Amino acid sequence: MSLLHDSPGSSPPEPPPDTALERTLREQQTLLDNAGAGIAFIRQQRVVRCNLRYAQIFGYDAPEDLCGQRSESFYPDTTAFRELGRAAYPVVSAGETFRVERLMRRRDGSMFWGRLTGSLINPKDTSEGSIWIIDDINEQKNAQVQLDAAIWEKQILLDNAMVGIVYLRDRHLTRCNRHFEQMLGYGPGELEGSSSRRWLPDEAAWEDVGRRCYEPLAQGLSFEGELPLRRKDGTPVLCDVRSKAIDPSNLALGSIWICMDITERKQAQTELIKVHAELESLVAERTQQLRDTVATLHREIDDRKLDQERIYWLAHYDPLTGLPNRTLLAERSTQAIEVARQDQTPISVIFLDLDHFKHVNDSLGHRVGDALLVQIAKRLRAVVREKDTVCRLGGDEFILLLPGANAKGAARVAGKLLEASRQPYQIDHHELTMAPSMGIAVYPDDGNDFDSLSQSADVAMYRAKQGGRNTYRFFTPEMQAHSVRALQLENALRRALERDQFSLHYQPQVCIATQQVLGVEALLRWQHPELGMVSPAEFIPIAEDCGQILPIGEWVLRTALAQLKSWHTQGLILPSISVNLSAVQFRQPRLPELIARILADAGLTPCSLELELTEGVAMDDPRMAIDTMDQLHALGVRLSIDDFGTGYSSLSQLKRFPISKLKIDQSFVRDLGEDANDRAIVSAIIRMAQALGMHTIAEGVETREQFDFLRDQGCDQAQGFYCGHPQAADQLQVYLQACRKAQLSATATGKRPNPTSAFTAFLR
Ligand code: C2E
Ligand code: MG
Ligand code: MG
Repeated sequence: MSLLHDSPGSSPPEPPPDTALERTLREQQTLLDNAGAGIAFIRQQRVVRCNLRYAQIFGYDAPEDLCGQRSESFYPDTTAFRELGRAAYPVVSAGETFRVERLMRRRDGSMFWGRLTGSLINPKDTSEGSIWIIDDINEQKNAQVQLDAAIWEKQILLDNAMVGIVYLRDRHLTRCNRHFEQMLGYGPGELEGSSSRRWLPDEAAWEDVGRRCYEPLAQGLSFEGELPLRRKDGTPVLCDVRSKAIDPSNLALGSIWICMDITERKQAQTELIKVHAELESLVAERTQQLRDTVATLHREIDDRKLDQERIYWLAHYDPLTGLPNRTLLAERSTQAIEVARQDQTPISVIFLDLDHFKHVNDSLGHRVGDALLVQIAKRLRAVVREKDTVCRLGGDEFILLLPGANAKGAARVAGKLLEASRQPYQIDHHELTMAPSMGIAVYPDDGNDFDSLSQSADVAMYRAKQGGRNTYRFFTPEMQAHSVRALQLENALRRALERDQFSLHYQPQVCIATQQVLGVEALLRWQHPELGMVSPAEFIPIAEDCGQILPIGEWVLRTALAQLKSWHTQGLILPSISVNLSAVQFRQPRLPELIARILADAGLTPCSLELELTEGVAMDDPRMAIDTMDQLHALGVRLSIDDFGTGYSSLSQLKRFPISKLKIDQSFVRDLGEDANDRAIVSAIIRMAQALGMHTIAEGVETREQFDFLRDQGCDQAQGFYCGHPQAADQLQVYLQACRKAQLSATATGKRPNPTSAFTAFLR
């Protein structure tokens, strides 16, 4: 069957069998049957005839199956079919061949791309039908679509890549994306065909890149590196560059370069490194600062610790001697008492006060006083056990806490302390002895707690002082009452002068040989409205301790001398007056000047005054005592040693004192009748005084026997109730006048006056 035979528009009458025609037709048929393309003859929109390929393209087995088939069925839908018709008509009707690629539909409904070529058999008469040749270009079309998509994607990539992409061939740009141009500041297409030298900074750099990159490219490797490029305006741009040959075996095909501007990144990196370095150094600096701060903190903590330790130390120790202070002693005592309570063991507390320490301070100054205290503290510490506490309360007061020690133990310690104090202390060139007075209280009998124990020990110490110092006393309940009185007296003493509570009594001092009254001793009396008459033996030590003795002593001196002056004025002959001078007074600075002034104020010569000193004045500092005595002596004032025999004066010391008289203590005189020892002592004192060129006076002479004994021993003077009681000035005046009368009558009769009659007339 021939396609051409069926052409509707031209159905020529069947020619007679012609071998040539037949052959031509056969050739045509063969051509149609073997054509690679599908060929169909369409008339009235239906298939009139087609070749096998056409049938196969549309999914039919044989061309016959398609005959009469509507051509519209080959298109996806009616719209597509009509659209094709509208497109083809103008072309084919103009005698042209219409060519188009369209989506076609197969028999099974599946779509495929076909390339259609159509033309009218007779352009002048469309009814004759048309010939359509179709190629199944589905695969080709799909491949093209994929290729286009790939190209499209590539283009998108190129256009939108944030990196510059360059194709080079023979080091000349064949293509690049916009980013590359923008990166280097060129307009679109401006770099087309340019040598890569154009964007390298100089010839040398360009050649260097050539040397470095083409070798790896030839080996199929990629070149990677940072290259400094140059923008159109000459400014540098640093790029991270990667490149690869399109075909390593044929470098002539060129290479692809991907360039990323890392100038900013690099700058940022550099900046970052810089910042990092700065940060590092800042951190290092900060670390060092921190380290310094920590070190300072540590130092501060250490300092604070030291401060705290120092504060603790200052709060608990005496800065001068390093001994525990009262606070620490109280703590330790409380602990010790707790232990003692549980274990039923004793505790002893020794209250120690240095005798006459104040004089050291007054006369030698505080520096010597302090140095002495330090040495004494050492000595105290050396005497006691490790577990005992030696505390300095302040001034010259110490407390020793002896846990476990009973009264016997405490007495032993006190004895050792007395013993230790006998050794003189060497401070600079001064050789000082410093005796302690101690009071002992024992737990639990004398107190249950620290306060009551230390109070009891204090009271006992006070009693030790009253008992002659340089000794110790145990506390007794009776002492408590006494200490209360001592306090009362001290308070009352402070006002006694201003309230005019003092007066002086005068006791005659008689020449044993002639019974003449040679002088009187002024004795202080204190009449208190509530306390009554208080004995000087009781209040003088208190006045010495509280310092009141100085104004009181001066008052005594002035009053006594004024009295003597008054008697002189009245014509009573009394050569001198004796005034007791306390050791505290004796050590006051510039005593000789004071005495001279008082004498001058009274209008008397110095020989009218005799000062009674005790042996104690020379005990602490003999050198200074001698110096003061010498000055007084030089003044013309006479000096005597009162209560002689009870102190510690050594003969060698005595020799150096400018003393005119020794007053034999009344304790030796009292028992002269019964005690052979006392007799021996008294006569020894008298002889010794004679040997030293001193006078003697016995005090407390109460009997004729005592008087006679003294006379027999060569004693110069007597003082005591036998010769006359201490009495007020007006009474003494009467006494003196009587004596004078007796004396006169004795002189007239040529007899010696009977001492008894002379004196006892005035005995009261
Ligand atoms: P003293 O200086 O040894 O005075 C002698 C003391 O013996 C006086 O006691 C006196 O009244 C007393 N007395 C005199 N004759 C006899 C006697 O025959 N038998 C007895 N048993 N006693 C006699 P007084 O007045 O109580 O004075 C006691 C001490 O007080 C004095 O001892 C003296 O050390 C001190 N004293 C008195 N007045 C002063 C003063 O003005 N200044 C100072 N610093 N001490 C004074
Ligand atoms: Mg006296
Ligand atoms: Mg005396």
